Amino acid sequence: MDLLKTLVDKGLRRELPTREEALAVLSTSDDDLLDVVAAAGKVRRKWFGRRVKLNYLVNLKSGLCPEDCSYCSQRLGSKADILKYTWLKPEQAAAAAGAGVAGGAKRVCLVASGRGPTDRDVDRVSQTISAIKEQHADVEVCACLGLLSDGQAARLRDAGADAYNHNLNTSEATYGDICTTHEYADRVSTVQQAQAAGLSACSGLIAGMGESDEDLVDVVFALRALDPDSVPVNFLIPFEGTPLAAEWNLTPQGALRILAMVRFVCPDVEVRLAGGREVQLRSMQPLALHLANSIFLGDYLTSEGQAGQADLDMIADAGFEVEGAGETTLPTHRADVASAGCGGGGCGPCGDGGDGGDKMAAAGDEGGSVEARDVEAEEGASGTPRQRSELVTVRRRGPGTEVPPNA
Ligand code: SF4
Repeated sequence: MDLLKTLVDKGLRRELPTREEALAVLSTSDDDLLDVVAAAGKVRRKWFGRRVKLNYLVNLKSGLCPEDCSYCSQRLGSKADILKYTWLKPEQAAAAAGAGVAGGAKRVCLVASGRGPTDRDVDRVSQTISAIKEQHADVEVCACLGLLSDGQAARLRDAGADAYNHNLNTSEATYGDICTTHEYADRVSTVQQAQAAGLSACSGLIAGMGESDEDLVDVVFALRALDPDSVPVNFLIPFEGTPLAAEWNLTPQGALRILAMVRFVCPDVEVRLAGGREVQLRSMQPLALHLANSIFLGDYLTSEGQAGQADLDMIADAGFEVEGAGETTLPTHRADVASAGCGGGGCGPCGDGGDGGDKMAAAGDEGGSVEARDVEAEEGASGTPRQRSELVTVRRRGPGTEVPPNA
């Protein structure tokens, strides 16, 4: 296919595809799926080999958020039966982080629900970062605390944070459909503040909220223009008790096309397979490793992922290897820029974390080839309809519980 040859050539040269080319990837047929994965896989291997970086989420503060991000189980008015707790103590967070590091994670993501941190919250998180770095000097720490105020990014950097996550989540045109308590521009500003303070920026999206292909391409091009070092690609986890509970819009094939599109648009950026991979990719998860070079190990903020050992087995079985602590994730041309403490690399991207985080219109948007089909239920082996909602398991282990974390 000429399209794929063009995209591979561009990806290997770190050249931006056109909008039309990105849209065309999302419109390819299931018959062409393996060709699309193979093509984007060439670009992935050029810049990241067969390495998979493991990241580990620690939910420092869960639930009771005053914001109304429709995708989020922690939102204002959420009826989701999630764990709710206030700030973990530094030693509790460090213990949870330690489990992730022992499981092979080289980055720990410290996430807190809320619009954004107070200065006192920044102090708390700074103490937590110190506690983690005392025990694991080499681990990368990423903070994800919501919208930042002046000076807070620099304080986090000074406390030892390596990175800051704040997702754009969806296109600017549709942002008002998923959240009314803050704006798309607020999110852009926070990513820019993190970059200006010398933090490695992490910013991504959530697919499956009813958006069109055009929206997906818009947000990925916006991310590329922002130029974060890592781009988490979340697939909506439709939590019961949230406005998007019925939005089972994705197919595994469509999710893989989205990941391939992101890889072509951001060829040399850490593309992270994030929240929703188990429930939306299901048995097709291993193919996603040919596209993403980074995943979360274990559980998400408020939902459970597959067992950490199953993550490691999947990586090994698919012929990939866990990236070691001593290995540099980013290609040299980007890593050098990142270590110099300035933004701008070769590519050009809080679900506030990994839970899929933040909503939208119903499936089947005109022009959207994010395949909308009747996926709310399917026949199980016994002939009993299997409800998709049964795939979402609320987290009942790790931080906020007495049960050991999954790592
Ligand atoms: S995504 Fe973040 S800001 Fe939005 S409701 Fe959830 S915790 Fe609050």
